[in-house]
Amino acid sequence: MKSWFASILLLAIALVLILIAIWFKKTSGLPSGRLIYADTDQLQAVPGPLFDPNLRLVGKPDYVLRLANGALVPVDFKSTLAPVEPYRSHVFQVLAYCYLLEQNYGQKPPYGLIRYQDKSFEVPYDELEKETFLRLISQLRTVEASPDAPNRSHKALARCRGCGYRDSCDQSLI
Ligand code: SF4
Repeated sequence: MKSWFASILLLAIALVLILIAIWFKKTSGLPSGRLIYADTDQLQAVPGPLFDPNLRLVGKPDYVLRLANGALVPVDFKSTLAPVEPYRSHVFQVLAYCYLLEQNYGQKPPYGLIRYQDKSFEVPYDELEKETFLRLISQLRTVEASPDAPNRSHKALARCRGCGYRDSCDQSLI
């Protein structure tokens, strides 16, 4: 009798765990895939940041998923509700992660994901997007090397808070 009860209890626990996993997958908005990298100590140790010496680019996506076909997909989580279209700065951030994964792992991600609180956006990483991204980096490097860098064009604290250039920016609002 006791072994019956233990079996049923184990089955019930397994069922609850499966339901929790399904719920998490649904609420996370992520595609199925194996998590191979998480930029958080709770999930697994973080390897070194991704680096590309040619572009002098460093970055760490929040997560990297390996899809069933072996492709790698970077995921960037945002704490805000989704805009109608993802902000261009967020798109470029995910493109940078795609580029860094390609350089570091030798395989090109088909897309990157931006996950807002309530919605996810797929950002294709095709030749056109890659070229646009590389052009932007080239423009940034030109501006960085120029003595007349442009002035800040906004008064939004949130933009500075989430900006990857904040540490080296002399016009940051925070
Ligand atoms: S930190 Fe500097 S570069 Fe970044 S958003 Fe603010 S003003 Fe712009």
